[in-house]
Amino acid sequence: MSITNHEVEYKCPYCGETFTITVYDSINVKDDQDMRDRSVMGEVFQQTCPHCGKQFMVQNELTYIDPDHKFILFVSSKPVAGFDVRKVTEPLIRQGYTLRRCETVAEFTEKIQILEDGVDDVLAELAKYDSYIEFCDNNKDQAKDVTAVEYQKCENGVMKINVKTDDKGMAFIIPISMLEEERDQHKDLYHVDNETFPCVNSQWMVSLFEVPDGKA
Ligand SMILES: [Zn+2]
Repeated sequence: MSITNHEVEYKCPYCGETFTITVYDSINVKDDQDMRDRSVMGEVFQQTCPHCGKQFMVQNELTYIDPDHKFILFVSSKPVAGFDVRKVTEPLIRQGYTLRRCETVAEFTEKIQILEDGVDDVLAELAKYDSYIEFCDNNKDQAKDVTAVEYQKCENGVMKINVKTDDKGMAFIIPISMLEEERDQHKDLYHVDNETFPCVNSQWMVSLFEVPDGKA
Protein backbone atom coordinates (compact mmCIF):
# COMPACT_ATOMS: atom_id res chain seq x y z
CA MET A 1 0.00 0.00 0.00
CA SER A 2 1.37 3.39 -0.88
CA ILE A 3 -0.50 5.36 1.78
CA THR A 4 -1.48 4.41 5.32
CA ASN A 5 -3.49 6.57 7.63
CA HIS A 6 -5.67 6.45 10.72
CA GLU A 7 -8.42 8.46 12.31
CA VAL A 8 -8.18 10.34 15.58
CA GLU A 9 -10.52 12.45 17.62
CA TYR A 10 -9.40 16.04 17.57
CA LYS A 11 -10.48 19.17 19.40
CA CYS A 12 -10.52 22.31 17.25
CA PRO A 13 -8.06 24.85 18.67
CA TYR A 14 -10.39 27.67 17.56
CA CYS A 15 -13.96 26.68 18.44
CA GLY A 16 -13.32 23.79 20.84
CA GLU A 17 -15.63 21.33 19.02
CA THR A 18 -14.45 17.74 18.78
CA PHE A 19 -14.38 15.91 15.45
CA THR A 20 -12.60 13.08 13.65
CA ILE A 21 -9.57 13.80 11.50
CA THR A 22 -7.56 11.50 9.24
CA VAL A 23 -3.80 11.68 9.66
CA TYR A 24 -1.21 10.04 7.43
CA ASP A 25 1.20 7.49 8.89
CA SER A 26 3.15 6.83 5.72
CA ILE A 27 3.18 8.11 2.17
CA ASN A 28 5.00 6.48 -0.73
CA VAL A 29 5.06 8.96 -3.58
CA LYS A 30 6.13 6.55 -6.32
CA ASP A 31 3.79 7.24 -9.26
CA ASP A 32 1.77 9.59 -7.09
CA GLN A 33 2.54 13.13 -8.18
CA ASP A 34 -0.54 14.45 -6.39
CA MET A 35 0.59 13.20 -2.97
CA ARG A 36 4.09 14.49 -3.67
CA ASP A 37 2.67 17.94 -4.46
CA ARG A 38 0.43 17.91 -1.40
CA SER A 39 3.44 16.92 0.72
CA VAL A 40 5.76 19.61 -0.59
CA MET A 41 3.02 22.20 0.08
CA GLY A 42 2.60 20.86 3.62
CA GLU A 43 -1.05 20.08 2.86
CA VAL A 44 -0.80 16.51 4.18
CA PHE A 45 -0.72 18.03 7.68
CA GLN A 46 -3.55 20.48 7.07
CA GLN A 47 -6.95 19.98 8.68
CA THR A 48 -10.19 21.90 8.39
CA CYS A 49 -12.68 22.12 11.22
CA PRO A 50 -16.17 21.10 9.99
CA HIS A 51 -17.76 23.31 12.68
CA CYS A 52 -16.05 26.69 12.26
CA GLY A 53 -14.28 26.16 8.93
CA LYS A 54 -10.86 27.24 10.25
CA GLN A 55 -7.77 25.54 8.83
CA PHE A 56 -4.79 24.50 10.93
CA MET A 57 -1.83 22.14 10.94
CA VAL A 58 -1.69 18.92 12.92
CA GLN A 59 1.86 17.58 12.93
CA ASN A 60 1.64 13.85 13.46
CA GLU A 61 4.46 11.35 12.94
CA LEU A 62 4.82 10.59 9.25
CA THR A 63 7.13 8.47 7.13
CA TYR A 64 7.59 9.85 3.62
CA ILE A 65 9.13 7.50 1.07
CA ASP A 66 10.44 8.56 -2.34
CA PRO A 67 11.88 5.47 -4.10
CA ASP A 68 12.77 7.36 -7.29
CA HIS A 69 14.91 9.97 -5.54
CA LYS A 70 15.95 7.40 -2.93
CA PHE A 71 15.14 9.15 0.31
CA ILE A 72 12.97 8.57 3.35
CA LEU A 73 11.91 11.34 5.69
CA PHE A 74 10.58 10.69 9.17
CA VAL A 75 8.61 13.65 10.49
CA SER A 76 8.78 13.64 14.27
CA SER A 77 9.75 16.05 17.01
CA LYS A 78 11.42 13.14 18.85
CA PRO A 79 14.41 11.00 17.76
CA VAL A 80 13.81 7.45 16.59
CA ALA A 81 14.02 5.24 19.67
CA GLY A 82 12.69 2.10 21.29
CA PHE A 83 14.13 -0.41 18.83
CA ASP A 84 17.38 -1.19 17.05
CA VAL A 85 17.08 1.40 14.32
CA ARG A 86 20.18 0.18 12.50
CA LYS A 87 18.48 -3.16 11.75
CA VAL A 88 15.87 -1.23 9.81
CA THR A 89 18.16 1.33 8.20
CA GLU A 90 21.10 -0.83 7.11
CA PRO A 91 19.25 -2.56 4.22
CA LEU A 92 17.87 0.81 3.07
CA ILE A 93 21.30 2.39 3.09
CA ARG A 94 22.63 -0.54 1.06
CA GLN A 95 19.97 0.37 -1.52
CA GLY A 96 21.30 3.92 -1.55
CA TYR A 97 18.67 5.65 0.55
CA THR A 98 19.23 8.93 2.37
CA LEU A 99 17.42 8.84 5.71
CA ARG A 100 16.49 11.97 7.59
CA ARG A 101 14.30 13.06 10.46
CA CYS A 102 12.46 16.39 10.15
CA GLU A 103 11.34 18.14 13.30
CA THR A 104 8.88 20.51 11.70
CA VAL A 105 6.61 20.72 8.66
CA ALA A 106 8.78 23.55 7.30
CA GLU A 107 11.88 21.35 7.55
CA PHE A 108 9.99 18.52 5.84
CA THR A 109 8.84 20.55 2.84
CA GLU A 110 12.28 22.09 2.36
CA LYS A 111 14.02 18.72 2.68
CA ILE A 112 11.86 17.23 -0.08
CA GLN A 113 13.02 19.97 -2.45
CA ILE A 114 16.69 19.63 -1.50
CA LEU A 115 16.78 15.85 -1.87
CA GLU A 116 14.70 15.85 -5.07
CA ASP A 117 17.28 18.25 -6.51
CA GLY A 118 19.92 15.63 -5.72
CA VAL A 119 21.72 18.07 -3.44
CA ASP A 120 23.75 17.01 -0.40
CA ASP A 121 21.67 18.55 2.39
CA VAL A 122 24.82 19.23 4.41
CA LEU A 123 25.80 21.66 1.65
CA ALA A 124 22.35 23.25 1.77
CA GLU A 125 22.62 23.79 5.54
CA LEU A 126 26.13 25.20 5.11
CA ALA A 127 24.83 27.60 2.46
CA LYS A 128 21.94 28.67 4.70
CA TYR A 129 24.28 29.23 7.63
CA ASP A 130 26.79 31.22 5.55
CA SER A 131 23.99 33.32 4.04
CA TYR A 132 22.54 34.11 7.45
CA ILE A 133 25.94 35.14 8.85
CA GLU A 134 26.64 37.32 5.81
CA PHE A 135 23.20 38.93 6.00
CA CYS A 136 23.71 39.77 9.68
CA ASP A 137 27.22 41.14 9.08
CA ASN A 138 25.93 43.47 6.38
CA ASN A 139 22.60 44.39 7.99
CA LYS A 140 23.32 44.49 11.70
CA ASP A 141 20.15 46.42 12.50
CA GLN A 142 17.99 43.81 10.70
CA ALA A 143 19.49 40.63 12.18
CA LYS A 144 16.66 40.40 14.70
CA ASP A 145 14.05 40.68 11.92
CA VAL A 146 15.07 37.51 10.10
CA THR A 147 12.03 35.21 9.95
CA ALA A 148 13.41 32.38 7.82
CA VAL A 149 16.45 31.21 5.91
CA GLU A 150 15.35 28.95 3.07
CA TYR A 151 16.85 26.80 0.36
CA GLN A 152 15.39 27.81 -2.99
CA LYS A 153 17.14 25.87 -5.73
CA CYS A 154 20.33 24.64 -7.30
CA GLU A 155 21.16 25.21 -10.94
CA ASN A 156 24.15 25.90 -13.15
CA GLY A 157 26.56 25.11 -10.33
CA VAL A 158 25.14 27.59 -7.82
CA MET A 159 22.81 27.29 -4.87
CA LYS A 160 20.23 29.98 -4.18
CA ILE A 161 19.28 30.79 -0.59
CA ASN A 162 16.68 33.30 0.60
CA VAL A 163 17.09 35.16 3.87
CA LYS A 164 13.64 36.48 4.72
CA THR A 165 12.63 39.32 7.00
CA ASP A 166 9.15 40.62 7.80
CA ASP A 167 9.05 43.15 5.00
CA LYS A 168 11.57 41.90 2.46
CA GLY A 169 14.67 39.78 2.39
CA MET A 170 17.73 39.00 0.37
CA ALA A 171 18.77 36.26 -2.04
CA PHE A 172 22.22 34.72 -1.85
CA ILE A 173 23.90 32.87 -4.70
CA ILE A 174 26.69 30.53 -3.62
CA PRO A 175 28.84 28.37 -5.93
CA ILE A 176 28.42 24.69 -5.06
CA SER A 177 32.13 24.06 -5.56
CA MET A 178 32.83 26.54 -2.74
CA LEU A 179 30.43 24.70 -0.42
CA GLU A 180 31.97 21.33 -1.29
CA GLU A 181 35.41 22.72 -0.49
CA GLU A 182 34.16 23.99 2.85
CA ARG A 183 32.62 20.60 3.64
CA ASP A 184 35.66 18.59 2.53
CA GLN A 185 38.02 20.69 4.64
CA HIS A 186 36.14 19.55 7.77
CA LYS A 187 34.91 16.09 6.80
CA ASP A 188 34.70 14.82 10.38
CA LEU A 189 32.82 17.87 11.62
CA TYR A 190 30.17 17.63 8.89
CA HIS A 191 29.89 13.85 8.95
CA VAL A 192 26.28 12.64 9.17
CA ASP A 193 25.35 9.16 10.43
CA ASN A 194 22.65 8.17 7.94
CA GLU A 195 21.85 5.03 9.95
CA THR A 196 20.19 6.86 12.81
CA PHE A 197 17.68 8.99 10.85
CA PRO A 198 19.64 12.15 11.77
CA CYS A 199 18.29 15.69 11.73
CA VAL A 200 20.27 17.80 9.29
CA ASN A 201 18.78 21.21 9.98
CA SER A 202 19.80 24.68 11.08
CA GLN A 203 20.00 23.72 14.77
CA TRP A 204 22.33 20.88 13.84
CA MET A 205 24.54 23.25 11.87
CA VAL A 206 24.63 25.79 14.71
CA SER A 207 25.44 23.04 17.23
CA LEU A 208 28.61 22.17 15.28
CA PHE A 209 30.01 25.61 16.03
CA GLU A 210 29.12 25.72 19.68
CA VAL A 211 32.22 25.37 21.83
CA PRO A 212 31.53 23.20 24.87
CA ASP A 213 32.13 24.94 28.22
CA GLY A 214 35.75 24.90 29.28
CA LYS A 215 37.09 23.94 25.87
CA ALA A 216 37.41 27.40 24.35
ZN1 LIG B 1 -13.49 24.76 14.84
